[in-house]
Amino acid sequence: MKNRIHNFNAGPAALPLPVLEEIQAELLDFKGSGMSIMEVSHRSKWFDDVINETVERINRLMGLGDDFQVLFLQGGASTQFALVPMNLLPEGQSADYVNTGTWSTKAIKEAQAMGKTVNVAASSEDRNFCYIPKDIPLDPNAAYVHITSNNTIKGTAYTDFPDAGNVPLIADMSSDIMSRPMDASKFGLIYAGAQKNLGPAGVCVVIIRKDMLERVPESLPSMFKYTTFAGKNSMYNTPPCFAIYTVGLVVKWIEETIGGLEKMEARNRKKADTLYSIFDSSDFYSGTADKDSRSMMNVTFRLPSEDLEKAFVAQALENGLGGLKGHRSVGGCRASIYNPTSQEGVEALVDFMKEFEKKNG
Ligand code: PMP
Repeated sequence: MKNRIHNFNAGPAALPLPVLEEIQAELLDFKGSGMSIMEVSHRSKWFDDVINETVERINRLMGLGDDFQVLFLQGGASTQFALVPMNLLPEGQSADYVNTGTWSTKAIKEAQAMGKTVNVAASSEDRNFCYIPKDIPLDPNAAYVHITSNNTIKGTAYTDFPDAGNVPLIADMSSDIMSRPMDASKFGLIYAGAQKNLGPAGVCVVIIRKDMLERVPESLPSMFKYTTFAGKNSMYNTPPCFAIYTVGLVVKWIEETIGGLEKMEARNRKKADTLYSIFDSSDFYSGTADKDSRSMMNVTFRLPSEDLEKAFVAQALENGLGGLKGHRSVGGCRASIYNPTSQEGVEALVDFMKEFEKKNG
C-alpha cells in the first residue's frame, strides 16, 4: 500500500498489513453487532468468542496441551518482573536468574526489591552483553530459572535454552515469542508484552503451567495473583479488549496465512540471514552480537562513526525504511525484524545499506 514504510521499530512494531486491513474492515461493525469491538461488553458473546479463539490458537500454535493456561494481563512485561517472584518464589527459596542485558537486569532488580533471594547464575555483562552464556551452573533446588530468551537491545538470543532439569524455566519472550517452534514443556511460565511479535501494546501474554498456580500465596492482592486471572479466563476485571482482539488476528495470520511456527521460523531465518550476511562481507557495518548468539529478531550494528550512524538513520527514513536507530541506552543502529516484517522489506534495507556504504565507505 502507498505511504506505508518498511518499519523496523523495536516495539511497538510493524503489524501484518492484512491484520490492519481486517481491523479496518470491521472497525465500525464487528460481526454484525452494530458496534466496534472496542464498544462491546467484555461479558458479551462477541468478546467471549474473541478471547477463546485467541487462546485456542496460541495453544495450538505453541503445542501447549492441557497443562498450560494462557492469560492476558495488563502492565506490560515489566509488571511480570515483579509478579513472577511475588507469585512463584516462596519464602526460604532462591531463584536462578541469567543476566543477558537491560531487561534481565530489571527482572533481577524487581525480584530483589520484593525481598526475594536471587542467584545470578550467569551474566554476560563482562562483554557488554554481546553474547549468551553457556554451561550455566544452575542450582537444582532453585524455585525457577529466569531467562530473557531474546535481548531486544543487545540483539542476542538463545539458540538452545539452558537445561534446568526439573526446575521450571521462566522466560521473558517479549521479543521472540512465536518466532519459532519450541518445547513448552520445559517452561513453568512464559511472558511477552505483545507489542513486538504479537500485536499492539497494552496486553502481556502470560502462559503458565497449571501446577505453578499452586505456589501463588493467598495473601497477595487480587490484581497481583495469577490465580485470580486463571480462574476467570483473564476477565476478573475489564481486559484490554482491543489489544486481545488484535493479538487474535495476528495469531490467526500466523496460523492461516504463514502456516504455523515452523514456517514462521523459516521465514524469520531467511530474513535474518539476508541481513546478517552484509556484516560478513563488509568492514563498514559491524554486528555487535557474537555470531553464535545473534538474534533472529533484533539485528544490532554499528557504522564507523556516530555521525555516519545519524546520517544512515535519517537517509534510510527518506528512503522509506524507518525505525533503525539503536536503543537510546546503547546507540548505534538496530533493525527489528519481527514476525510481521517481510523479506521484501529486509531486501530493501540491504540494498539501501549497500548503496550507503558505496557513497560513504
Ligand atoms: N522484556 C523485553 C525483552 C523487552 O524487549 C521489553 C520492552 N522493550 C520489556 C521486557 C518491557 O516490556 P513492557 O514495555 O511491555 O513493560
